[in-house]
Amino acid sequence: MTFTAGKAGRDTRSVRGLVWLAALLAFCGVAQAADASPAKGSMWDEHPRVIAGISFAVLCQSLMITALLVQRRRRQLAEDEVRLGNERYREVVETQHEMVCRYLPDSTCTFVNDAFCRHFGKPREEIVGAAFLEMLPKEQHRMAKEGLRKMIETQQPYPHEHTIEIDGKEIRMEWVDYPVIDEKGVIKEFQSIGRDITRRWHAQEALRQSEERFSGVFRGSPAAIGIIRQSDGRLVDVNPSWERFFEIGRDQAIGSTPVELGLIASREAGERFKIFLESGESLNGFEQPVNLPGGKLRWMSMTCVLIPLGGEPCFVVMSSDITVQREMDEARQSLVQATRLAILGELTASISHEVNQPLGAILNNAETAEILLKSDTPSLAELRQILADIRRDDIRASEVIKRVRTLVGKHEMQMAPLYLNELLGDAIRMVEHDCQRHGVSITSEYALNLPMISGDRVQIEQVMLNLLLNAMDALKGVPLSNRRLIVRSARHGGMWVETSVEDNGHGMSPAARERIFDSFYTTKEQGMGLGLALARSIAEAHGGRLTAENNAGGGATFRLMLPVHDE
Ligand code: ADP
Repeated sequence: MTFTAGKAGRDTRSVRGLVWLAALLAFCGVAQAADASPAKGSMWDEHPRVIAGISFAVLCQSLMITALLVQRRRRQLAEDEVRLGNERYREVVETQHEMVCRYLPDSTCTFVNDAFCRHFGKPREEIVGAAFLEMLPKEQHRMAKEGLRKMIETQQPYPHEHTIEIDGKEIRMEWVDYPVIDEKGVIKEFQSIGRDITRRWHAQEALRQSEERFSGVFRGSPAAIGIIRQSDGRLVDVNPSWERFFEIGRDQAIGSTPVELGLIASREAGERFKIFLESGESLNGFEQPVNLPGGKLRWMSMTCVLIPLGGEPCFVVMSSDITVQREMDEARQSLVQATRLAILGELTASISHEVNQPLGAILNNAETAEILLKSDTPSLAELRQILADIRRDDIRASEVIKRVRTLVGKHEMQMAPLYLNELLGDAIRMVEHDCQRHGVSITSEYALNLPMISGDRVQIEQVMLNLLLNAMDALKGVPLSNRRLIVRSARHGGMWVETSVEDNGHGMSPAARERIFDSFYTTKEQGMGLGLALARSIAEAHGGRLTAENNAGGGATFRLMLPVHDE
């Protein structure tokens, strides 16, 4: 650019100089004509027409030369412009990453840029003049020819993609070919601009596959899945399982809220749904009654996760029908309750003894206090002791009543950290009197420093009472002097706490061993055969297990394993 400006400046200056020279000559002629006096007989006087003519001719010539110079300069500038433009164009074409190729209707290459040569790993001389079809794999010839035909027919650009193999690697190319048409509307050649889109293609392919997978999971999932927009609680999509389960078509569901579809069973549930939407919190295993068409009520367990979908937060709600499970749970709860009552029935002697004993002691102590008060100088120390005993016995009696009440009362499973040894002590206390009555010596061997377990106190106590009562039953045939029952606690690995009830009773026959945990299996005349089945289901509901084995020296041992409380 500097060069152009300098040269232009110089040329302008020389043109200006010539104009000045012509003007000067003309001026000199005129001046001379003016200055010369007629007396001197000047040239002007003598040849005024000649001088004026010459001056005029010089002026005209100068003007012509000037015009020619200006024209030449303009042409030069235009040529420079074209040359620069060409250079710039070539530079742009050569330095860009996109591949540029020109070819004739018979596919002969007339021009390729560096990127094109680099991409195909061939020198320009090898490509230009050759047919580009030759560079394509055979199976793509038909597509390329079809493209040519289309362009000739429509004179429109032809965008297309294809995959080629270079050095054993799959390369995805994106091309836009278009016809280059001259002023008469005839196709001179074709220009093709292409780029390597392998990376984008792989990413798109991965995305497509992932979308396909996810939509497969969504469509094929056995769980009913609905997607609910958080802002207005409307369904955005539902899967076929959802349609089947709720007996509502996708078209009807999309755009409606569960309330509008009549799925929400109660006002309270509707309120909960609103609060849940507003909170934006994810839920796991949330149990909710749902109305189905025809007035059927089902219980659903719902897992809701809030995720952004299509730029707006949506809940993905996965529902599974837990009606049967809930009914079974309720039935199990009722059975657990019934067996607890049965256990209590068996323990009435113990319970009445446990209550009567402190009550009797309270009565005795009260009578003794009365006698003491009748004396002139009652011993205050003795009276204080009597009152302390009364308070202790009262607490003992009310403890027993409390325990009985919890066993009798209907009760939802409540998990809490528990000290197993403490719980075993309570259970043993409840059967102690019965053991005494039946001549059973009950001993306990507790491991110290046991970690806490996590469980429902009432249910675990129920399992222990059941095992203790069964053991006492098994000891019935053993001579009175030899009836032994041992309750142990121990740590089992890092994760478990084990408690066992060992007796030296009749043990289990091979047939009994197979079936003792089956519901309604009993070998007792008055037995219900539910105690062990329920005890095992309670153990499993706690993430533990209950097993039984015969002892080498006779009798049986039942082991209850419970997981350590996880802090
Ligand atoms: P039930 O006590 O009503 O029979 P359970 O389910 O508690 O019901 O027990 C089922 C059966 O398991 C008993 O009938 C008995 O045959 C057997 N059983 C339970 N505990 C023992 C034990 N400690 N020793 C031997 N057999 C036992």
